[in-house]
Amino acid sequence: MAQKSQNRRKRKTFHLDKDLDILDDFRHDVSGARLIIARAQGDQTRFVVAWVAAWQKTIFTYNLRKDRREAEKIFRKLRKNPPPVTPSLQRDWQQNKVYAWEEAILDKRGTNLTTEQMERVVRRISKDFNIAAPDFGYKKPRSNQQTIGTYDTEEHQILMNYKKLNYLIHELAHAIDMKVNGNKWAGHGPGFVRTLIHLADKYQYWHCPDELEKEARKVGIQIASDKKAPKP
Ligand SMILES: [Zn+2]
Repeated sequence: MAQKSQNRRKRKTFHLDKDLDILDDFRHDVSGARLIIARAQGDQTRFVVAWVAAWQKTIFTYNLRKDRREAEKIFRKLRKNPPPVTPSLQRDWQQNKVYAWEEAILDKRGTNLTTEQMERVVRRISKDFNIAAPDFGYKKPRSNQQTIGTYDTEEHQILMNYKKLNYLIHELAHAIDMKVNGNKWAGHGPGFVRTLIHLADKYQYWHCPDELEKEARKVGIQIASDKKAPKP
């Protein structure tokens, strides 16, 4: 049996830059995923259509056609729908960059909120964005605890371990990104960052949104377009 699987021909993978000539592409705003249609280099009769994650260079999953018009048909069809929810497209590729940007730029000097104040912020922002307010809880951090807060998608619940406004807004941005943008892909993807900038603009008004965006782009963070972003 082992022999058999060893002999099985592996499906060819394509390297985005080395193996393919991109004919057209389309960027899905919230996930940052890119739909491509490409011709295999050195082969006029192989056309590839695939969703590619923002971090991805080698593609394993794709549609292969010998006819360009057939491939174009698939491209147009796939473009009408959001990308699939796959491990590749769910990988939270820019999480560390987003954390570092927040750490450096978003204000942390504010005083601690009380639990009541945090609850009020959750209700107020949820109302502004027309979503049901997430359940809210606060738990004192253990001395060695790293987690600042979490948003539980399934339970629609925010649990905070720290009381700063910007930390709370980060978790609310997750709730809004999922409920309003429909994000099912990377947690800290382009839709999340755009939402966070909106929230900072509205509820931490001492920040300049253009400046936040400029600093984020400088370190290579992808941000969804402003046009489709949720507006309170
Ligand atoms: Zn987060």
